[in-house]
Amino acid sequence: MTGKNRLIMMPIKKDHLINSIYRATEGEWVSLGRPQIFVRYQGCAIGCLNCDSKDTWDFSQDMGINLESVISKVHSEGFDGRIKNVSITGGDPLHPSHVPHVLALVKALKEKNYYINIEAAGSRVVDEIFDLVDYISFDFKTPSTGVKTPLKNIQKMIGQYQSKFQIKAVISDRTDFEATLEAYKSLEKTETSLNFPWVLTPCYNTEEEFPMSRFMNVLSWNEEAGGVFRVIGQQHKWVWGPDQKQV
Ligand code: SF4
Repeated sequence: MTGKNRLIMMPIKKDHLINSIYRATEGEWVSLGRPQIFVRYQGCAIGCLNCDSKDTWDFSQDMGINLESVISKVHSEGFDGRIKNVSITGGDPLHPSHVPHVLALVKALKEKNYYINIEAAGSRVVDEIFDLVDYISFDFKTPSTGVKTPLKNIQKMIGQYQSKFQIKAVISDRTDFEATLEAYKSLEKTETSLNFPWVLTPCYNTEEEFPMSRFMNVLSWNEEAGGVFRVIGQQHKWVWGPDQKQV
């Protein structure tokens, strides 16, 4: 083969670190009950104490696949594109090392008319991605997580993304509830409107029986506080059990 005709084999970039891509019915937050394809990125450096997906923490290069493979799997998991809802989650899909790849995925999925939700850990507002997605589930980290969400991040969400985000807080105990209520009241003083869903998810730990009393407490505390939050449990854990993955 002459130099002119020689094929140059370019390595295929496997730069999307993916834990899993699977179909399931959303089990929590305001999209509860909607079937979607979950694209779960591998790698998270946030370190919530009560994280139920610690298997997603490691930034394992072995789990890299290319963009075309991600799109193809989303298509096939969604019954050849019939399911048009995608939730990009993790891990932390907004970790700086993931951002360029998640941005490429979002652009590619939007070209194919997918509705895209992204799960944000609350530590970063990533405008280039948030501007393009259809919905953002933004965490407010409670004391039991050992992580703090800066209120300025929620203020930025209110200022820029009022119509397309929710705040989600996992409630383990009364301290978590009071901290969340305090954050809400602080924001009430600085913002003209808190017209977005703020969802409380009663914690449902792995290897735990259904947390009935915790759930009832969170419902009561919210009622006492004037019902400023929406309490939505984790339906998928009731159905499949707290330890089941990819459901
Ligand atoms: S941000 Fe999510 S994946 Fe990361 S530690 Fe917290 S709960 Fe776990």
